[in-house]
Amino acid sequence: MSDNENEKQNPQFVSDDQVKRDITYRQLFFKLWPYCRRHLGFVFLVLFCVVGLAVTSRALPFLIGYVIDHGIVAKDYGVLKSVALIYLVVQILQTLFQFSYSYFFQIFGNRVLYYIREDLIRHIQNLPIQYFNKTPVGRIVTRLTNDVATLSELFTEGVITILVESILLLSILIAMAFISWKLTLLTMFSAPLFVWMSLQISNRIRDILREAKKVLSRLNSFVAENLSGIKVIQLYNRVPRNRNHFLKVSQEYKDLTLKSIKAHALLHPVMNLFSAVTISIALYGGGFFHQQMGLAIGSVVAFLMLVQDFISPLREILEKYQQFQNSLTSGERVFQVFDEIPEQQLEVVQSPTCWRGEIEIKNLNFRYAEHLPLVLKDISLSIRSGQSVAIVGRTGSGKSTLISLLQRFYQPPTGAVWIDQVPLEKISFAELRHHVGVVQQDNFIFRGSIASNIGLDSTHISLEKIEAACRQVGYWDLLTQTGRDLNSHVEERGANISVGERQLIAFARILAFEPDILILDEATANIDSKSEKIIQVATAEISKDRTSLIIAHRLSTIEQCDLILVMDHGEIVERGTHAELMAHAGIYHHMASAGVKLTDTLSSASGTAAP
Ligand code: ATP
Ligand code: MG
Repeated sequence: MSDNENEKQNPQFVSDDQVKRDITYRQLFFKLWPYCRRHLGFVFLVLFCVVGLAVTSRALPFLIGYVIDHGIVAKDYGVLKSVALIYLVVQILQTLFQFSYSYFFQIFGNRVLYYIREDLIRHIQNLPIQYFNKTPVGRIVTRLTNDVATLSELFTEGVITILVESILLLSILIAMAFISWKLTLLTMFSAPLFVWMSLQISNRIRDILREAKKVLSRLNSFVAENLSGIKVIQLYNRVPRNRNHFLKVSQEYKDLTLKSIKAHALLHPVMNLFSAVTISIALYGGGFFHQQMGLAIGSVVAFLMLVQDFISPLREILEKYQQFQNSLTSGERVFQVFDEIPEQQLEVVQSPTCWRGEIEIKNLNFRYAEHLPLVLKDISLSIRSGQSVAIVGRTGSGKSTLISLLQRFYQPPTGAVWIDQVPLEKISFAELRHHVGVVQQDNFIFRGSIASNIGLDSTHISLEKIEAACRQVGYWDLLTQTGRDLNSHVEERGANISVGERQLIAFARILAFEPDILILDEATANIDSKSEKIIQVATAEISKDRTSLIIAHRLSTIEQCDLILVMDHGEIVERGTHAELMAHAGIYHHMASAGVKLTDTLSSASGTAAP
């Protein structure tokens, strides 16, 4: 699914391809300045080399002019020899400055970008889950790769080149005016017109490139999503359809790129014409000034050389100006990500003095976004320390929503949820994640070993502890019987691990980390009765002595619980123990009896994962 389709189907996806506005030069400067400040030494080094480059480059035409007037015309062999020598030295110096400037400059630019990228990834990792809900992964990847790379262009090609070339241009103008300011004014007479024309072309290129970048971002999101969903795409024969869609977007991108190349090609003739016009004026004017006003022939030659030098930095500035403007959008996008508020800053820290695992929910109402309907309606609930609570209900009744609020994946209204008498919004994220352990429906398995997936490479969790956890949840036997151990390799996203095993690994993770509150979104996948037994035992094991909230689909899990909540359309409609709820003919009674009769599980009765 493309970004656009996503945005149409899911109103949560907010298009940020259209950046609100371009960042201004001033803002850009203030955003980049902290990074530049860290390498101020390099900035000065670069500037020093540029000034050196300007001085040596301008000296060369003067030396030629001097040798013509005082060496060749005056037939002074001594002057000829020494000026030739000086010329050689100045030329070598110029080359040295040129080399050092680009060398130091590259180091400087790359360091700055390195830090921007580092800050950006750290920032993104700390963003709240809402951000990832509204932003497709492909777009985040584009921000980190393409946009940072363009920002690099903005920096190296844009800011610095424009600065450097402006210094060079200024030095040429000063040198020309030094020879004759009147001749300089005459020669530069047509410059404003050509600069104006070039700017028009530049702006057009910028607009095309901006459009192209939007298309590219769409292309990236599309590719990322298609690769991660390739299984479904192949299974449902969507390959040709998706390929066509890809080709369409790709074609659009190609057309835009060609358009920009065409516009770009126009810049050259314009600059060449400017060059021809100025040099002709300088030739004529120089000859005139020589004959009528006694301007030395050497000076005329030097002037002509300077005019020729003048074109190249001007062309650079005009070309880079367009690239620079184009990259401003990328800069804006990168810095827009920085403007998202990370989790840590959302929190007001006050932790419970001692974690007992009491949960109090008072009149909780919740909707995912303002324009969406209420998903949870007036939920009130009080869970004592150590109690195990099962939540059952039809699919879409709000079970997962309720538990994601407890983990603060979404922000519940203030004062609605309390843990150990502290309002949830005041408990720090780190503390909360430390004390609340979660086993989700879809447990994420990382590439690595089984041990690293259980201990998450945490230093305070020893291998012995991991092994004990595996034994406790009944995973150890399964593991050793299949000839594997804790160091066995796990492929990306647990491709070589069964669904039941993933659940057991997640259970073992909980035991290893010993949280005070356990949240379990039970997997609905059909597993054989032997594995079900193992998982049932494991569930009992991990919920022992700790407050547990279990979204349950299996009757076997539910029966063990101290309290059962039945949810329907975002409300708790029934609550009590298994025996109490079975005593009157409500939803639970109906679901449980249907489930027992049909498949021994509640999942089919509640409409999820019917085989
Ligand atoms: P299941 O048993 O299928 O897991 P559930 O009871 O866990 O269902 P929830 O995931 O809590 O159901 O969803 C409750 C309602 O909230 C659904 O109508 C769903 O469409 C909506 N919903 C869930 N997640 C979001 C989201 N991120 N943004 C907007 N609406 C959502
Ligand atoms: Mg759910």
